[in-house]
Amino acid sequence: MSHFVSVEKISKDKECSNCGTWLKHWEKCRNKRATKCSVIICNETENLQGVHVNDIFRMDSKSFIIPLCNTHAHLPLLQSMEVSTTLISSNPRHSCKRF
Ligand SMILES: [Zn+2]
Ligand SMILES: [Zn+2]
Repeated sequence: MSHFVSVEKISKDKECSNCGTWLKHWEKCRNKRATKCSVIICNETENLQGVHVNDIFRMDSKSFIIPLCNTHAHLPLLQSMEVSTTLISSNPRHSCKRF
């Protein structure tokens, strides 16, 4: 599924308290490993991290986690990118704590 998202914030200092890291949070909720950057035109498989993003077509500013490479994790905050992945809620009560 394709979405247009922009980076919300880098969450290096505050990882998911339930999963250890935001990447593990995404992997746990998807029940699979993150193998590639979510950006459609990017084939990076190294140094992936779980990054907070906003779906730019949603009216609320709900925050989601997706796997991104180091380059795309550090895009300017309002720059949008097309990604092909499942957006996972960053709220543990709506995601990892339900498993
Ligand atoms: Zn989690
Ligand atoms: Zn990338």
